[in-house]
Amino acid sequence: MKPLFLYNTASRSIEQFFSVKEKQAGMYCCGPTVYNYAHIGNLRTYIFEDVLKRVLTLNGYKVKHVLNITDVGHLTSDADSGDDKMEKGALREGKTVWQIAEHFTAKFRENAKDLNILEADVWPKATDHIKHMIEMVTILENRGFTYKTSDGIYFDTVKFPSYCDFARLEPESLRAGERVDMGEKRAPTDFALWKFSPKDQKRQMEWDSPWGVGFPGWHIECSAMSLAYLDLPLDIHCGGTDHIRVHHTNEIAQTEAATGKKFANFWMHGEFLNMGNVKMSKSGGTFITIDTVKNEGINPLAYRMFCFTAHYRSPLTFTMDGLKASAVSLGNMRKAVPPESAGTVDVSKVATLMEPFYQHVNEDLNMPRAVAALWDLLKDTSIESQVRRACAAAADDILGLDLLAAPLETKQLVTSGDGPAITFDSPVPVPDALKNVLVAKIQARRTARKEKNFKLSDEIRNALTAQNIIMKDMPDGSTECQIPSSVCANCDAVVAALS
Ligand code: AMP
Ligand code: ZN
Repeated sequence: MKPLFLYNTASRSIEQFFSVKEKQAGMYCCGPTVYNYAHIGNLRTYIFEDVLKRVLTLNGYKVKHVLNITDVGHLTSDADSGDDKMEKGALREGKTVWQIAEHFTAKFRENAKDLNILEADVWPKATDHIKHMIEMVTILENRGFTYKTSDGIYFDTVKFPSYCDFARLEPESLRAGERVDMGEKRAPTDFALWKFSPKDQKRQMEWDSPWGVGFPGWHIECSAMSLAYLDLPLDIHCGGTDHIRVHHTNEIAQTEAATGKKFANFWMHGEFLNMGNVKMSKSGGTFITIDTVKNEGINPLAYRMFCFTAHYRSPLTFTMDGLKASAVSLGNMRKAVPPESAGTVDVSKVATLMEPFYQHVNEDLNMPRAVAALWDLLKDTSIESQVRRACAAAADDILGLDLLAAPLETKQLVTSGDGPAITFDSPVPVPDALKNVLVAKIQARRTARKEKNFKLSDEIRNALTAQNIIMKDMPDGSTECQIPSSVCANCDAVVAALS
């Protein structure tokens, strides 16, 4: 198998992956701020990181995956001003900060499970590591990297000469710009390591420290938690691209200033999921969650499939139609996997056939190409069915799409109640307008049959058939309608033709 190559943000180039300890990889991923539901944009980043972890495992690495939970200190502005997102979220929900942290952490883990994101080895919570953060700030203070203002202890970025390197910042950014409101900061890039609790307001989360009662800055949390569980340099540190400029730049500065060691060898960043032309964001208001996807009657794994339609370093624009198309292709892919049957499988043949798939995943996780390579295999009926099935199973170790599971559940009970049930069998949710027309037609046909008006009942059936909707009378008296996705996509025209 071709060796693993990954894009390293630090060098802006694709490099052959290596680890510090032979065949062991320490991976730190910036986790969710648990003040609200994770949106599917956040989850795109965690899916990319999950694929990375699976690909490292494929390449023989034992991965130690640390995914933190930010439950304090992430302010509404990255410039260390504004409210704490957690305290604001608690006010919104009318609960304590601790309650919302617990609630949204549980919800996040449920979303991750729905998306087949493998469990992290460690899920450290920021509030469980305040001691580590205070220790790190103390070291930075002793080494002369900090200064105090009336609202906190700040990192002095001018003292860290390579501060601008990682994000390729212009050195001018270290100087005060005329229009930048810096408060008492000495440079716009300086950032809070420890913030004091406001004098006029009691915070729900605050701790004693050598500098006064307060709470940690967001950036110090990730440095302290990665050091608590992984050795330096980390093999890989991940996050979304929005973290490059501020959060990861600050993590590097404070960690390297405190330890004198390199922080991470590989830095990897996932591109955004957009809605229209803008990044999906919680603060932007319009965001979609896994619950929204489920409420549309779509299996969450269809969203995982949707993420594989773009490379993780390319922006991806979300549309409901695009998600529905991915639900159809996931269903088709599961149907294309041959059923299990007796007989032995030639393992070396599977390895040879899987070569293109593995090559694509090892070329910086090129999932669109890997999925296309799997399709080529599944469609090639000259390959024995059990070998094709074994290839699907091997590919699924990376894809995590449950390809060997039964094809997606496509049946939906529409009415039960008094009369016999009506069920729709459709790979995508049936729009309400079409649903109402079909239920009315089926009820009208039942009445016609009761009245022995077979001419009318046949006319109704034929009208549906003409629209590619197959109506089946089931032995128990219920009715099932098979509705192709093209009919749902063309809903207005079909409804007009049937009305
Ligand atoms: P947060 O909970 O806001 O701290 O974000 C959690 C993770 O989601 C971080 O790695 C972010 O970089 C990432 N993220 C935020 N918005 C998006 C988006 N629209 N698309 C992809 N990743 C995102
Ligand atoms: Zn982080």
